[in-house]
Amino acid sequence: MNCYDCHAAAGAAVPAVAVCHGCSSGLCPAHLLITRPEIHRPNGVGVVHAPARARRVWCATCHAAQAAGAPAVSTA
Ligand SMILES: [Zn+2]
Ligand SMILES: [Zn+2]
Repeated sequence: MNCYDCHAAAGAAVPAVAVCHGCSSGLCPAHLLITRPEIHRPNGVGVVHAPARARRVWCATCHAAQAAGAPAVSTA
């Protein structure tokens, strides 16, 4: 699979290294964005947070669309 954003912008065939969580487009390292959401698990008496944050990969379009509801953004 190749990067969709590279293809859309320049018609370039750049190998993808990840897939967008929102739209499933292939993404190269230059076009992917990563968030580290906390995972909340109901445990009967409340909600616990998993000890480690998860990882989600986004394209710029989907990242912008969901950013308002997901303040925890990391560039790592
Ligand atoms: Zn790209
Ligand atoms: Zn996307």
